[in-house]
Amino acid sequence: MAENCFFCNAAKDEQAAVCPACSRDTAVPAPLAAEHQALLQKRDRLRAELIEAKARLASRRRKSANA
Ligand SMILES: [Zn+2]
Repeated sequence: MAENCFFCNAAKDEQAAVCPACSRDTAVPAPLAAEHQALLQKRDRLRAELIEAKARLASRRRKSANA
């Protein structure tokens, strides 16, 4: 089964101890891999919230500039 490298996100073989793309050690224990995945999801969620907050701020600024 294939998976993505934790570091560069390149597709790699699950059994490969080293990523063929970035040459980093990808033999990470499963609990750490799961934690990493959870952190990535958290990061993506926070990033989405940040984009949303920036959009709200920008529209607020536009409204006050027109007033
Ligand atoms: Zn890599």
